[in-house]
Amino acid sequence: MLNTAYAWQATSRDFPQPEDTRSRPVLQQTRRAWQIDGVFASNRFPGARLNDFRKLNDSTYRAVILPENKPVNKSPWYAFKLWSAKKRSIRLILDYDYGDHRYFPKISQNGKDWAPLDSARFSMYGKQDALLLLDLGPDTLWLAAQPVVASGDVADWCVRQCQHPDVRQEIFGKSRLGRPLRMLEVGAGPARQKQVVTLLCRQHPPEVTGWFALQHFMDELLSDTELAHAFRQQYRVLVFPLINPDGVDLGFWRHNAGGVDLNRDWAYYRQPETRQVADKIVREVQKHQSTLVLGLDFHSTFEDIFYTGDETDNPPILPGFKDAWLAGMKTALPGFEFEEDAAAEGKPVSKSWFLAQFDATGITYEIGDNTSPDMIQQKGQVSARVMMELLLGR
Ligand SMILES: [Zn+2]
Repeated sequence: MLNTAYAWQATSRDFPQPEDTRSRPVLQQTRRAWQIDGVFASNRFPGARLNDFRKLNDSTYRAVILPENKPVNKSPWYAFKLWSAKKRSIRLILDYDYGDHRYFPKISQNGKDWAPLDSARFSMYGKQDALLLLDLGPDTLWLAAQPVVASGDVADWCVRQCQHPDVRQEIFGKSRLGRPLRMLEVGAGPARQKQVVTLLCRQHPPEVTGWFALQHFMDELLSDTELAHAFRQQYRVLVFPLINPDGVDLGFWRHNAGGVDLNRDWAYYRQPETRQVADKIVREVQKHQSTLVLGLDFHSTFEDIFYTGDETDNPPILPGFKDAWLAGMKTALPGFEFEEDAAAEGKPVSKSWFLAQFDATGITYEIGDNTSPDMIQQKGQVSARVMMELLLGR
């Protein structure tokens, strides 16, 4: 007999601004290396995006960057490796077929440690494209829109988190192309009837600064302070660190392998990632007779901003939490400015889903594309600390 506690699924419903999230075709990126007159380029690694590589003249090369399908949010992601047989300098055009250059180039010698390109080596090329001056040699130069963090890196991070006694990992599902969907569960003691906080990340592949913020947020939750211990005793945190592993590993600009923006699919769950994540959250809450009080969804955009709900007509379980949290962060981080955009329910995005499904506060936590690593760390830690204080009633 079916255990009804496990039969629970997320509720399907209409949102005021519906979205068609049925699968559509995506462009296949051929994994290959190019060799042109002693200059090499390769997209053979997870997270890479390079669709063609050509020579224009003696010293100028052109890297063609295409989206996975159209229309798509104009956040052109690129990532590839370059080297040359002999030391030489080249001019490289980042040639976007759709959308304007957005992400200032990052470079790396090893694919792990990244730094921005020297700004003197960057200029726009026409209205849409970018022109870079690069020194190449036999050692690989990695070039990317943001530091490359692929699904294997997130899997390694999950293993490291599990060294903490209050963290467990579960692989609860698979992406469209079969990559594992992971959940970390944070908490001490029995889960039964505990209030739940949910963290989501990387529905959108290029949004790496949001991922960095989530990591710092977790560091604070798992810290050895009295506050964090008390919080882990009283609350359970469900963490979904990588909701779109296919899109991340395939170097997509926005979508999943079904060609769909997952953060528009929280109404009918037509994509396997949203279906399984939403059902998993509902099941965890039901199974332990819990109440989900807060959902934070980590993203990146042009600026630091929180997308929140308009609570006047539709108050959540924790009315006022959102305002107290934002105010608490402003106090704790003097000089750090961020925006809030509070809107009524519109599109089927996760923040509205948390309210619709659970009467929980849902917030889209956006880190700026160019926010400094130091500020991301402070913001991630402070936002976690203020959240724990408020939820513990301190
Ligand atoms: Zn996003």
